[in-house]
Amino acid sequence: MIPKEHPRYRSLVVRERLAEFAREGVLSLEGLTAHGRGEAFDYLLGESTSESARLAERTAAAMLLLARKPVISVNGNTAALAADQIAPLQQASGALVEVNLFHRTEERIEKITRLLEANGVSVLSGSRERLLPLPHGRAWCLRDGIFSADLVLVPLEDGDRCAALRQMGKDVVTVDLNPLSRTARNATLTVVDELTRALPEITRSCPEIGKEEALKLVADLDNDYFLRAAMDVMKERLAHALD
Ligand code: ATP
Ligand code: MG
Repeated sequence: MIPKEHPRYRSLVVRERLAEFAREGVLSLEGLTAHGRGEAFDYLLGESTSESARLAERTAAAMLLLARKPVISVNGNTAALAADQIAPLQQASGALVEVNLFHRTEERIEKITRLLEANGVSVLSGSRERLLPLPHGRAWCLRDGIFSADLVLVPLEDGDRCAALRQMGKDVVTVDLNPLSRTARNATLTVVDELTRALPEITRSCPEIGKEEALKLVADLDNDYFLRAAMDVMKERLAHALD
């Protein structure tokens, strides 16, 4: 039992929940360590959504709305942290949801699908094929999902897979607290914010954005600007950490 007055209460509760999901087999052990890297960057960001991240979230909503066939790719970390935030995003954006794992087993795909469905998500089903230009295990996806999408929202993604999706001509929107990661640098748009702050903000933006604003947000999109802005927030905080 974590005491409520602990200064790191929220972070400890999330860790406890992730450990539980790892014991249940929803989250891989590698996923647990990836969470730790995210936490470190969130510390540097001050654990809050920056102004530039808010603009990135609005731009992400615009891209989802303009896409012909947007697909949200959900992995173990995303499901464990935000299972209850996916259905509202799916409804607001009209995107399809596919479970796609880096450390892929049929059993984990099944468990994550059940968790998402219990939270009201309509999850794509079908048999996966080796369709991504990647070696063996990581090449799998659904022909009617990620393979034929023009835009993939893929939070907490691995750099290689992000690059492979870009190579296939797709737009990739990612949520990644590390602005230096290969994923962050390869994506069309990187939201440098914590997943559970970012997803509801993208969802909230969807019904607010008209076609004209959406087109303008996308025309103005400059991913390097978002990465630099996030690094500037971190630099500024580090420069004044001991003041
Ligand atoms: P890459 O392969 O893209 O260079 P990486 O190897 O650091 O980067 P992975 O371990 O493949 O990345 O994926 C985890 C990424 O997700 C990390 O960059 C981490 O900062 C980020 N991350 C972890 N937890 C969260 C979270 N809750 N919200 C947003 N980002 C997160
Ligand atoms: Mg990686």
